Amino acid sequence: MEFQVGKAILQLIKGDITDVETDAIVNAANSSLMGGGGVDGAIHRKGGPKILEECKRIRATEWPDGLPTGKAVITSGGNLKAKHVIHTVGPVWLGGFHVEAELLKQAYKNSLRLAVAKGLKTIAFPSISTGAYGYPIEDASGIAVRTVKEFLEKEDKLEKVVFVLFSERDFEIYLETAKSILAR
Ligand code: ADP
Repeated sequence: MEFQVGKAILQLIKGDITDVETDAIVNAANSSLMGGGGVDGAIHRKGGPKILEECKRIRATEWPDGLPTGKAVITSGGNLKAKHVIHTVGPVWLGGFHVEAELLKQAYKNSLRLAVAKGLKTIAFPSISTGAYGYPIEDASGIAVRTVKEFLEKEDKLEKVVFVLFSERDFEIYLETAKSILAR
């Protein structure tokens, strides 16, 4: 399913983000940047050790105490089809009273900014924070779609943003959200 937003295409697909051939795929990492479960584990498994080596270098230089929630960094894509991986840390859901919404927005926005800063044209996101981190997907999908929409309306350098949903249910929820936010 595709939507036109500004000059760009916003696409929703059901699938595995490690198979996607955008310039960058986004990893829902944890602040250690040392890998983990869910999409993070899948990216490191398929991308190979080069990604982890670069993450270790980032920890040793830029972020010795770990990548703060809402920030983003970039590595190569290792053996993935995507040339780069943008690692961001979404918030853990703590009931909605702990600025989770703002932090989730920052995770999307900082990933998009980094892609533009690196001259990339296409980027794919998983559903950040809605797995192990427990963010309710109905709310998270609204933040994801609105943040991308606002970004694409101001910034014309990206050509395509893809949301890659891992289950049929997640796909349906994102689709309903996108229709209600993007329909003219
Ligand atoms: P978080 O800790 O940010 O919640 P998770 O990886 O646990 O991150 O989950 C985020 C979302 O990514 C979930 O909806 C999960 O189903 C999904 N996911 C897991 N593996 C993949 C994959 N290979 N491709 C795309 N999405 C995935």
